[in-house]
Amino acid sequence: MKAVVVNKESTGVEVVEHEMPTIGHGEALVKVDCCGVCHTDLHVAHGDFGEVPGRILGHEGIGIVEEIGEGVTSLKVGDRVSIAWFFEGCGHCEYCTTGRETLCRSVKNAGYSVDGGMSEYAVVTADYAVKVPDGLDSAQASSITCAGVTTYKAIKEAGAAPGQWIAVYGAGGLGNLAVQYAKKVFNAQVVAIDINDDKLQLAKEVGADIIVNGKEVEDVGAYIQEKTGGCHGVVVTAVSKVAFNQAIDSVRAGGTVVAVGLPSEYMDLSIVKTVLDGIRVVGSLVGTRKDLEEAFAFGAQGLVVPVVEKVSVDDAPKVFEEMEKGTIQGRKVLDFSK
Ligand SMILES: [Zn+2]
Ligand SMILES: [Zn+2]
Repeated sequence: MKAVVVNKESTGVEVVEHEMPTIGHGEALVKVDCCGVCHTDLHVAHGDFGEVPGRILGHEGIGIVEEIGEGVTSLKVGDRVSIAWFFEGCGHCEYCTTGRETLCRSVKNAGYSVDGGMSEYAVVTADYAVKVPDGLDSAQASSITCAGVTTYKAIKEAGAAPGQWIAVYGAGGLGNLAVQYAKKVFNAQVVAIDINDDKLQLAKEVGADIIVNGKEVEDVGAYIQEKTGGCHGVVVTAVSKVAFNQAIDSVRAGGTVVAVGLPSEYMDLSIVKTVLDGIRVVGSLVGTRKDLEEAFAFGAQGLVVPVVEKVSVDDAPKVFEEMEKGTIQGRKVLDFSK
């Protein structure tokens, strides 16, 4: 079968002919329909989290169950399921048993610590593969498996409620979805902040009430405070320390700042402001199986629509190069159905 793997030198990817996987107890064999290409895959391919040459990449896989192993009761042949970054938790630690399974210290991640979804066939742990509802396009579901659930969870963590103000820093792929979830699922009022007018325009089209170009406004935090009275929650998808600092300045007392983007820096956090204004700063990482199930449901209802483009599997190396150069537009999804 065809698969996209980390090359021997851990400098990128190659498309190879790979042996078929076999399933064991509690596992299911999935015939992959498509799998999105994510920035995290680029980190894995480059060995940024530790080198894994030969690993099949991909954590945005969608496919149909073709065979189930012994002991599987949660899936049946024909079910459409996802292959996600949160591939499997231990099931019994303090995180797994308290609704925070993505923090499990023994977690397995698809396309990194175990083979992922960028191949014609993939193996999933049946109890951890979330079913995709009917009516949701597989390519869109692929994007929801990672970017969608990540932003949905972050908006939840921000405590979004109807009528309240939510700010989204960074209006790229993640930010655009965050705006959609905040507006269309949580019925919040939304401010989108970026330094790119095209992305801001797209944010406006999907529901942002206010757009702010950080390059054109001198004091972004003060501007947002003036326009909204301070946001109740802020989600930072931008990979920029500046955005994190502006986020802190954008919340009202009692507000929450949710960190999603991963700049390798420290943020400046005024202890006085944090204490006196009762500000919460939290990190948010992908989502649990339940979060993904909910995110899929809102996708199937047409409330949130990821922008995706299907490309041939053979183009995978080119897609990774474009991603490295930063010239990629929208979400590229590898089509394994042909
Ligand atoms: Zn991803
Ligand atoms: Zn665990």
